[in-house]
Amino acid sequence: MTVIRAAALTDTGRRRQKNDDTPLIVEGRLFAVADGMGGYAGGDVASATAIEVLERTFAADPTADGLEEGVLEAGRAVQAKSQSDPDLRQMGTTLSAVALVDSPDGEVFAVAHIGDSRIYLLRDGELSQLTDDHTVPEDLKRAGQLSEEEAAVDPRRHIITRVLGPSGEYEPDMQTLVPYAGDRLLLCSDGLTDELQDNQIASILRSVADPAEAAKRLVEQANQHGGRDNVTVVVVDVLDDDDRSRTASAALAASGELRTSTPESSGRRGLMTAEERNAELRRLSRGGHDDGPAPWDTGSSSGAYRDEADLPTRRFTLRVALFLVLLLVVLGAAAGAVWWYATNSYFVGLDDGRVAIFKGRPGGLLFIEPEMVEETDLTEAAVPPARADDVESGHEVGSLEEAQRYVRNLRRDSALVSPTSPTTTTPADASATTTTVP
Ligand code: MN
Repeated sequence: MTVIRAAALTDTGRRRQKNDDTPLIVEGRLFAVADGMGGYAGGDVASATAIEVLERTFAADPTADGLEEGVLEAGRAVQAKSQSDPDLRQMGTTLSAVALVDSPDGEVFAVAHIGDSRIYLLRDGELSQLTDDHTVPEDLKRAGQLSEEEAAVDPRRHIITRVLGPSGEYEPDMQTLVPYAGDRLLLCSDGLTDELQDNQIASILRSVADPAEAAKRLVEQANQHGGRDNVTVVVVDVLDDDDRSRTASAALAASGELRTSTPESSGRRGLMTAEERNAELRRLSRGGHDDGPAPWDTGSSSGAYRDEADLPTRRFTLRVALFLVLLLVVLGAAAGAVWWYATNSYFVGLDDGRVAIFKGRPGGLLFIEPEMVEETDLTEAAVPPARADDVESGHEVGSLEEAQRYVRNLRRDSALVSPTSPTTTTPADASATTTTVP
């Protein structure tokens, strides 16, 4: 048995003289919002008529078909009434309804919708709009003729293209939704969504646990943001889903899908998050329930939950992940060491016939080429013969200062060996003739 707790609230708002919206909650099974329109007299009559007929029709046939028939019947009633009274001939109403009905898969929500009221689902903390707005720009957007941004600011967004009213164009959109414990539905009129963004609505729905309190906060916020229209909200919480979540967990565990589940993906599939499932599985393994064997217990002797035997793929994945992390750390450290070794050393070598100081390793290391940092005026010919091989192959030192000292020694030795060398001999001049390559 699916257990529901729901609350509804409707408010005239801060600008309107009367409230044309009508909410409905029937015995935890039927929930609806109707937003009436059409002149001074019509709006409230239209929404009240639609809700009354929907309730009566669904009571006689509490199925998904009964819900759809209830919307059609409501449309016929509004149309007939509008034709019978000249004051009411422009009236019409939106109608968005959710009913808990039996199906071969257990109890499900049947959803019927026409107009620009909305039904949202908050599941796993994420808010999604279940219904399409039947307005000019939203219809064009669905036809690919307007972008999301264009539709949002289109001046025709209050022109409703499908409504229960005189035109007789009142075919509702129908869908079904499998309820899970923790789901929260919001049915609301456009007086809410014209004042609040989806993220503002989501934030209230997430943070206020009690549905009546959440409904109150939503209406308060809509009024604080202008309250230009009547505001109606119905908040529907699924408290218990007839063990559907637990069965889903077991099915997932058996198929090994726990391995790849993320909160996002499970949310889209309409299932529990991986964390919730795991918490539930752990809780059950401690014997938290004694209402018969768990669905995945195939009758082993102990009946206890066998973590290691039942979830080998998950353990394997954890081990692989740990190994990959370690491998990355080791590779990263090795690459860092190579980089440091290749770039944090200097050598004195030759560049185009002249002695120069390089950063790096002679000939480079792996992909890291040496970089020239200083070129001197000391020519290859001036290098003392005793040091010629050393310089040609690259004389490695630990620092730039050491390299500069080695160059000064070369210059001094060169002067000693060949007094006619054009190079100067004093350390001061030596540094003066040293050019720095940026
Ligand atoms: Mn409205």
